[in-house]
Amino acid sequence: MADRDFDIVIVGAGAAGLSAALAFSRDGYRTALVGSLDSRRDGRTVALLNGSVRLFEALGIWPAIAERAAPLETMRIVDDTGSLFRPPPATFHASEIGLDAFGWNIENADLVDLLADAARRQEGLTLDEGQAGGIEVTGGHAVIRLEGREAIRAKLCVAADGRNSQLRKSVGIKARSWSYPQSAVTAILAHDRPHRETSTEFHTRHGPFTLVPLPGRRSSLVWVTNPEEAKTLAGLADAALAAKIERQAQSILGTMTIDGARGTFPMTGMSVGRFTAPRLALVGEAAHVFPPIGAQGLNLGLRDVAALRDAVIDAGDAGEDPGSPDALARYQRGRDIDVRLRTVAVDSLNRTLLTGLLPADFLRGAGLLGLSHIGPLRRAVMREGVLPRIGTPRLMQGAA
Ligand SMILES: Cc1cc2nc3c(=O)[nH]c(=O)nc-3n(C[C@H](O)[C@H](O)[C@H](O)COP(=O)(O)OP(=O)(O)OC[C@H]3O[C@@H](n4cnc5c(N)ncnc54)[C@H](O)[C@@H]3O)c2cc1C
Repeated sequence: MADRDFDIVIVGAGAAGLSAALAFSRDGYRTALVGSLDSRRDGRTVALLNGSVRLFEALGIWPAIAERAAPLETMRIVDDTGSLFRPPPATFHASEIGLDAFGWNIENADLVDLLADAARRQEGLTLDEGQAGGIEVTGGHAVIRLEGREAIRAKLCVAADGRNSQLRKSVGIKARSWSYPQSAVTAILAHDRPHRETSTEFHTRHGPFTLVPLPGRRSSLVWVTNPEEAKTLAGLADAALAAKIERQAQSILGTMTIDGARGTFPMTGMSVGRFTAPRLALVGEAAHVFPPIGAQGLNLGLRDVAALRDAVIDAGDAGEDPGSPDALARYQRGRDIDVRLRTVAVDSLNRTLLTGLLPADFLRGAGLLGLSHIGPLRRAVMREGVLPRIGTPRLMQGAA
């Protein structure tokens, strides 16, 4: 890199970091992205909710993403816990809240590849495939150390370097991590019956077993179960695993075959005390980790990006630089409640499935029944899940 001085440096080229790099460089900030542009296939897909779709539209990359994604028009929840208070399956249609789809499902590796392609073409964006070692703040700048190389500096450094964020550690932001007695097994599947754009979630005693549509007669699986069973499943040959999945899915999609990568993820959560430090903002999994329930992780990471972009623009309008205390305070205020509320919601849902206690079963069963039968409640919950109204960042409002 010839130039060592930027307005904004982003560290980490996952989906959150790439999106931040595209957003800031499109807004005219001299931007650098540090991190290697490669994506590993691990059977993981991400369901992009409405706000994320709006963000990618604003960044001009939605048409390419849509080609590799499938719409989620219907969501079905089946209580498979064997509970005494087992409600009938609950079905939700996006059309009830005036949407074509709740979201769009795409392989995470495809999404990262498409964002990386756009980043390579983006004017005003410098790419550096190095590793950041840490950050210091001197004279109104963040100085980012690069392994084996000369440091670079910026007014604002964005840490998008994932759950083990080196930058978060180097500035001493405290993180609280926890784990669940569960692991998620992921796989890409082909099947002989059409999914009809319907995602089906079986709530089992060990966690949700979810099939999410991909383009064609393909779906992705997230099977949350106890770590011993996850290990057994991970050790099965493709054909044996496909047969197990088909049985667990009550054959709703007919005969299944494994049609892509597989993965296993321990179920963990992480939250931070602060989203900012002088000249530094955390986004994506550097700031919060969710278990893969309710499609929150990356969607919230993209909300971080869009909210940080608003905070930087607003501070600029008030004559401040992108990493000024004013810009960072705006960002901190906006993210605190949003992330905390969603962390509690996802954690509680997962824990009620695990307890097996009658009161929890009753409340969950009653909740699902209420959602099935009380129209306004059902629409309010669907809207809040897909289109949260409070504090939606501007690039996620569809007006850009
Ligand atoms: C099974 C499963 C299903 C999921 N389903 C959904 C879903 O449906 N919807 C949803 O919204 N989310 C979902 N998620 C969550 C989502 O996958 C993550 O939130 C998202 O991928 C995190 O992106 P990120 O860019 O924040 O972090 P990462 O993808 O971890 O990217 C961090 C990047 O930083 C790089 N890096 C690290 N350290 C350095 C350094 N020092 N210097 C330079 N680079 C560095 C890494 O190499 C990596 O490229 C799911 C997760 C799992 C496990």
